[in-house]
Amino acid sequence: MIVMKFGGTSVNGADNMREVVQTVLESRGEDTETVVVVSAMAGVTDALLKAARAAGAGQANAWEHGLDDLEQRHLDVAHALAAGAEECGLVCEHIDRVFAELRAILQSIAVLGELTPRALDRVASTGERLAAPLVSMAFRAAGIASEPVESSSGVVITDAHFGEATPDDTGTWYGTRTKIRPMLGKGQVPVCTGYIGSTPDGVITTLGRGGSDYSAAILGAALEADEVWIWSDVDGILTADPKIVPDAKVIGHLSYAAAAEMAACGADVLHPKTIRPLIKRAVPLRLKNTFNPAHPGTLISNRYSEHPPAIISTGKLCLVTIRSGEGNGWTPEVTAQTLRHMSHAGIDVLLFLQSAWQNGVSLLVRENDREAAMLTAAADKLAVHLRPGAATVSVIGPEVIRPTLAALGDSAVNVLTISQATTDAGVIVVVPEAEMPPLVRHLHERVSAGQIA
Ligand code: ASP
Ligand code: MG
Repeated sequence: MIVMKFGGTSVNGADNMREVVQTVLESRGEDTETVVVVSAMAGVTDALLKAARAAGAGQANAWEHGLDDLEQRHLDVAHALAAGAEECGLVCEHIDRVFAELRAILQSIAVLGELTPRALDRVASTGERLAAPLVSMAFRAAGIASEPVESSSGVVITDAHFGEATPDDTGTWYGTRTKIRPMLGKGQVPVCTGYIGSTPDGVITTLGRGGSDYSAAILGAALEADEVWIWSDVDGILTADPKIVPDAKVIGHLSYAAAAEMAACGADVLHPKTIRPLIKRAVPLRLKNTFNPAHPGTLISNRYSEHPPAIISTGKLCLVTIRSGEGNGWTPEVTAQTLRHMSHAGIDVLLFLQSAWQNGVSLLVRENDREAAMLTAAADKLAVHLRPGAATVSVIGPEVIRPTLAALGDSAVNVLTISQATTDAGVIVVVPEAEMPPLVRHLHERVSAGQIA
């Protein structure tokens, strides 16, 4: 059995959904059971979150217009895909029902003027609950038996940490046995919603932004799949970003640990939590390219330990330096509180450095989060300095630290700060964004020459 995940751009419209069906049929072997996991159509989750925030801010009906467009977008896909009027009617009814529910929820958020994390998850879940039935319909239109599965209907069971829920292994094991296994037994292709789950009492949760990869891994582990495949538009994890280094090579095999490290450093083909559920059940993960399906991609499993060093680069980051306000000392409690408040505000702290004198900390956050980070620190009466336009260049591999530092010394790059990846796994360099591409090229040359290995 293979669990295959397709993201928002792969399911963005009727033509793309038909391509998903073709990709599945052409790439799976004969008689291979397949479970498909899908994200919301591109941009839908962002639009939903925006609507929820507008409602929470009491902007009465500011979201109405956007919602009409969103509904029409899904109805258009249904009409384009449906094999007959009856089929179309059923799916359109589902879309109508979901939107009626969504409008009612947004209305009540607006009336209360309060957006709770629980309500936000309920709204955010809508995108996947709309996409899965459409993709499933594309399978049926191609003559393949298929049904959609709402992972929030007792399949992926999680805790109640809304916005970033953690799956419960036992509950999910049971959920997949009772809901998904029987469908496979009947020869159907289940098309499951990524990103969402529910608490044991059925309250909808989400697994964090970009969480559909994680969903595929959770389902693959629970079902003890032979492999989990994540389809995107690149051949897998490369030795560097091919837009910066055109001759970067695909890394054929990686250990779970190395892949997790690369994901944590921002390798965008892989959501950082994806590896976790797979390790326990030793289910291999394969990253594959929908535009080059014959390519084997990158295989991640417990069978490999050696890999060439990879250079992972990420831009659009902001270095936030926080110091104690005038006259106040900095204590470990201030550090703890700062991090706690950042986490409550939904800010992902990608890197954290504390000065030796303990009079402040530097946090690396996404540029999108910089306003929220500033407000959060200001609310704690701390002095904040923002350094937007930052990027990280990480070299991941064993024993790369010394040669990487030597290579940095030979370059003219202006290093903002440096951190270690997990012990022995690599080094993370923070630089101004404009200096990222030349540094990536410089380091990749050293890797190619065997000087960083
Ligand atoms: N639709 C969700 C998001 O936009 C999950 C995903 O795309 O993986 O975050
Ligand atoms: Mg993604």
